[in-house]
Order: sequence, then structure tokens, then C-alpha cells
Amino acid sequence: MTTPHHCHAHDCQRVILPRLFMCRKHWFSLPVKLRDAVQSEYRRGQEIDKRPTARYMAVQQYAVCRTAFKKFDEAASLVCAEYLTRAIMWQRRAIEAGDGDPLKGLIPEEKKKDQAQGELF
Ligand SMILES: [Zn+2]
Repeated sequence: MTTPHHCHAHDCQRVILPRLFMCRKHWFSLPVKLRDAVQSEYRRGQEIDKRPTARYMAVQQYAVCRTAFKKFDEAASLVCAEYLTRAIMWQRRAIEAGDGDPLKGLIPEEKKKDQAQGELF
């Protein structure tokens, strides 16, 4: 018997098909561009061999970050920050491996501190 596969959104316990990333509610809460990125980085069978690419892990962790974020909620922001930190770690690994930037176009480019304020997403 296999263990049930849950939605990857933070704190969501909904059981979903192993090939799916999130339950319907969380999946459709993501921006289309991010959903497209998760789908294009997905490699068929990665849920079986448990060997997703660094590019997939970067967009996946960023997507989980997005589902955890709630405006004006400090606790939710801290949870989101943990996923964002992991997304950036995987982003660096992908770039260092020569696979390009998986988060390009998904997160704001680095800007001067005063310009970036309030533009996390
Ligand atoms: Zn969910």
C-alpha cells in the first residue's frame, strides 16, 4: 500500500493524486505564470523516483510560499519566508549547475532597496 499524497500547500491535508502538486483550491490560487512554470518544470515520473530537478524545486517552493502568504499577517509571512528561502537556495543550485534561472519572470528582479519596498510579489 502506498501512503496518501497530500496537497503541497502549507498546512493543507487534502489527499490528491500523486501526479498532482496541489489541491484544486490552492492550485488555482496561484498566478497562471507560476502554474505554467510548475507544469513546465515537472518531469514525468519524478514523484516515483523522488528526483525532481533543482529548477522544479525552486518553482515548487516558491509556489508553496505564495499559498502561505497572507497580507498583514506576520506569522504567515514568516512561513512564506521559509519557503522563499528554500526557493532561492534551489534557484542558486540550478544557476550554478548551468540550468538557468528557474524563477526568472516569477519574482521581481533585484532593485534598489527603496524601489523594491512593497513589491514582494
Ligand atoms: Zn491544498
